[in-house]
Amino acid sequence: MSRPRGPALFNVDRASSGGKPPRQPEHLKTFTWKSLVISVALALAAGLATCALWRMGLIDSLQSAFVVPVARGEVPLQSPQPWLGLLFIVAISSSAGFLVSRAGARRSFVVLGLGFLAMCGASLLTSKYFKVDILFAPMALGALGATFVVQLYRLWLIDSVLTDHLAETAARTDTLESEAQARLMSGLKLLQTILPLEESIVCQQNENGRLVPCARLRAGPGGSPDTNRNTLWRKLIQVGDRAVKTGEIARVRAGEIDELESVAIPLRHEQRTVGALLLRLREDFDQSDRGLLSAVGDQLARNLQRENARKKKLDNNLPAFISARSSGRRLQAFDVISGVLTEHRFGAQVLAEASDGYAIAYLDGTLAYVNPAMLWATRMNEFEAQKADLFGLLDRLRTGVFDEPSIAVRRVLQSGEPYERELKIPDRDQVFELRIALATERNGNGANGNGAASDPLCFAIRVRDVTRMKQFEQLKSDMISLMSHELRTPLTSINGFAELLVLDDRIPEESREFLQIISKESQRMSRMIDTFLSVTQLERADKKEVTKIALRLDELVRETIVTMQSVAKKKRIRLVEQANGQIPPVAADKSLITQALARLVDNAIKYSPERTTVTISAVLEADAVRVIVADRGYGVPAESIDRVWEKFYRVSRNGREKDEESTGLGLAFVKKVVEQHGGTVAVESEVGRGSKFSFALPRL
Ligand code: ADP
Repeated sequence: MSRPRGPALFNVDRASSGGKPPRQPEHLKTFTWKSLVISVALALAAGLATCALWRMGLIDSLQSAFVVPVARGEVPLQSPQPWLGLLFIVAISSSAGFLVSRAGARRSFVVLGLGFLAMCGASLLTSKYFKVDILFAPMALGALGATFVVQLYRLWLIDSVLTDHLAETAARTDTLESEAQARLMSGLKLLQTILPLEESIVCQQNENGRLVPCARLRAGPGGSPDTNRNTLWRKLIQVGDRAVKTGEIARVRAGEIDELESVAIPLRHEQRTVGALLLRLREDFDQSDRGLLSAVGDQLARNLQRENARKKKLDNNLPAFISARSSGRRLQAFDVISGVLTEHRFGAQVLAEASDGYAIAYLDGTLAYVNPAMLWATRMNEFEAQKADLFGLLDRLRTGVFDEPSIAVRRVLQSGEPYERELKIPDRDQVFELRIALATERNGNGANGNGAASDPLCFAIRVRDVTRMKQFEQLKSDMISLMSHELRTPLTSINGFAELLVLDDRIPEESREFLQIISKESQRMSRMIDTFLSVTQLERADKKEVTKIALRLDELVRETIVTMQSVAKKKRIRLVEQANGQIPPVAADKSLITQALARLVDNAIKYSPERTTVTISAVLEADAVRVIVADRGYGVPAESIDRVWEKFYRVSRNGREKDEESTGLGLAFVKKVVEQHGGTVAVESEVGRGSKFSFALPRL
């Protein structure tokens, strides 16, 4: 579901979502002390200009309109001294300018209007009764002029701020601007792969509305012979022009221009044509491709528009209300932004397809986006989701283990770490995995020296239905218990009886050989089951603490050599200890570590040719004791070295391992055991020269 606020969803502005109001950069402010001084200066100039007009007698007729004329023969009206008049006019003009600059034209209107009326009245009265002209007309003209220039200045100021803003936003949102050309080419390549194209050309409209090619892709290296190229090109452009004019796909069948079919698709962005896409097809144009072509065309149009805007930098010298060019550029910047917003919407569309539930909430708890899977998980409809906030959404997921959504949210906010919980929804017999995390953005000016701190942007809530996975896990554990009981019991009988029968003299020698094979193979099978079980059991007991005692690993090495000697002898391998003096004990579960070491030694014997030596040693490291099993065997190829510890991973060695008893579980078991003890495993190996498998446990 995409909510009405959709397009803004993925364009979460760091400043607006962070809760703090953004500090405006200096050049984006409209009122500054500097602007006030300039306004007053402009008003002063307007006042002085009016004075000049007054002194030159150019406004005498205007002046006489606001005084009561004296009768013929009477003393003419008295005016103040010129210097006093000048002072009045300039003072009134500057005051008007100051007022407009501080309070704005609309709010000053009442004060100025009332003042105008009062002065007008005063002028009439003083001229009638005192025979004095208080210079109302020049003063009013000065004030009017000042208001006009100051207001014009303010408009220019706001206009340049708006232009700067736009330029900045367009540049910030359009991170891919330098790749515009590459994106055009990539669009053409995409078309090339799905259509039988001989050639494709993106044309853009220049200032005169003519189509000019800006990206071209040809299938063959040569294309058509170039003798007719110019005529062909002219005709192609005509097809493009037709498409641009009609706003529809224009088509010229094969044979009309040349042997290829030509199709022109108008490229439109924001209801304006920005160019045309010309395609030259080897086969007939398939009408079912129309939808696809117009979709790809839309993307190309956005890229083209972006490229255009990038080429023409915003001209912020002239205000847009005077300069049509500036207005045009501004419109282009707007288009870039709207194009980017359109592309950002795609993210929401993709999330709508996701099988996991996703919701995005701003840091004030408002829900910005909820996808259909989340609606299903929370059993809300779109209408309810539009009214709900983050807590309303989380409330729907309340269960025994998740009873206080606000605590979870607080923890996420405080620690920055995601909150994860498995929720069992009893009435639906479902298990959900809930994750509440903070989406962050690297802001590149972190104080921690590495140049990137993270600013939280919004909450990302994910709900995954893990019911099936849980069912599989249950199935697996059922299988394991089946293996451990139902498989092992008959195997023990098979092995036991086979061994008994081997000892029976009445059975012919040949049959006893078969019985021996039965016994050996059943033992092998039972060992494999044991390894498998020990790994899975260990995994299940992952979280459980192992019972640790103080263990001397050098002693364990000696014991292992004794117990493994018989296995080594069978392959005529020398099993030796390399003593390294006093070794401090470690805290470990003796039985588990013994098994782990036995598996390493067993592998060393298994993967070494006869008459070689396997050396086992315990060495003291800084704060750990390492046990190393070194052999002179086949070695592990470099490409497998990182994978040998994986479960069921087996190195293929020219079919050699077929003879060996191999499950790919031995090393996985060793790793699990060692990691459960807080230790690490390591391997060094060279094919044909031997391997060194080791593990280190923290010393006591
Ligand atoms: P497996 O039961 O097959 O021995 P492991 O997990 O013990 O399973 O070993 C995984 C793979 O690592 C094996 O297939 C083997 O080829 C390789 N490997 C283990 N130990 C050695 C060794 N000492 N020398 C060479 N290869 C080894």
